[in-house]
Amino acid sequence: MGIQLGMPGITRGDTAQGLLDTHGRRATDMRLSLTDKCNLRCTYCMPAEGLNWLQKDQVLSREEIVRLVRIGVDQLGIRELRLTGGEPLVRADLIEIIRDIRANHPELPISMTTNALGLDRRAAALKDAGLTRINVSMDSLHPGTFAQLTRRPFLDRVLKGIEAASEAGLGLVKINAVLMRGINDHEAPDLVAWAVARGFELRFIEQMPLDADHGWTKEGMITAAEMRGLVETRFVLTPDPRNRDGAPAERWEVRDPGAPDVVLGTVGIIASVTEPFCADCRRTRVTAEGKVMSCLFSREETDLRDLLRSEAGDDDVARRWSEAMWLKPKAHGMDHTGLGAADFVQPDRSMSAIGG
Ligand code: SAM
Ligand code: SF4
Repeated sequence: MGIQLGMPGITRGDTAQGLLDTHGRRATDMRLSLTDKCNLRCTYCMPAEGLNWLQKDQVLSREEIVRLVRIGVDQLGIRELRLTGGEPLVRADLIEIIRDIRANHPELPISMTTNALGLDRRAAALKDAGLTRINVSMDSLHPGTFAQLTRRPFLDRVLKGIEAASEAGLGLVKINAVLMRGINDHEAPDLVAWAVARGFELRFIEQMPLDADHGWTKEGMITAAEMRGLVETRFVLTPDPRNRDGAPAERWEVRDPGAPDVVLGTVGIIASVTEPFCADCRRTRVTAEGKVMSCLFSREETDLRDLLRSEAGDDDVARRWSEAMWLKPKAHGMDHTGLGAADFVQPDRSMSAIGG
């Protein structure tokens, strides 16, 4: 039985509505964290010493993950799955997880966000298992800057991983880059040139206050407007005419000023802080230990793991998940325009512990 709330004819916990919230948004895009562990220590995400990792039995098992995705797709209208973490490639049973999900859902787009360490050895197997596409995070093309940002000297391994993914046919490779003032912001045009030359879609992401070190400041972050300006020191950017269709990145066509008729590629800018897209958000997040978060900045978490480990049926799990999403906040408030903006507080969890 659902609980009748403010929207006429619609009830909280009515799974027939999918993952609907009180603001009329329906989540169809599932971000699932496979682990909280990672082998890099990006300064905007993790502290140098790492975090207190979850114990193995605290993390959802392969079977629990596969069941949860099945409930999401079959009962709640999930139409797209993104695997993330922590670093999903550190999970030993990653290939089997993808194979099992693919067996249940032949048409589901399954993508993965990864730092690409070790991807050179596993790209072909991931493709065979049914992975559709990857996003690789890489913030610099200079080994020293990469090591400064990630606290690990592994740029060459990341580049090998990207090449292997491209050769394995893992769809359109997207590259995520966070620009940090005075560290890699000057590399914006070089990163664009590198990506378009290889047919990759680069996406610059505004740094969000989700670092475990709590070092983020609004003044310190590079804004989307600044990112466009940095790229425009070398290229001409014009809005991509394709429909954005709920995507977080605003896409721009990239041209050389000397040959303005030729589109070299596209670049995306994800302005989560200064131009938030909360009104069109279609995401539901599940952490590695099975907690639903309706928003990256949500302070509410709803546990599904205990339910999955009890005698509860799929319907019970679906109902609790839909109840968790019903109360998704209207906006995160980071830009000081959303609901609750005046009291925006950085969440306790950092990005790697949520699943970015
Ligand atoms: N380890 C994988 C990776 O780095 O791609 C997946 C998890 S990581 C948390 C997912 C994405 O979140 C990465 O693209 C990373 O750059 C981004 N990210 C992490 N912390 C961030 C922050 N404070 N602000 C903006 N993006 C962040
Ligand atoms: Fe690891 Fe990804 Fe966080 Fe970097 S951004 S520390 S690679 S989880």
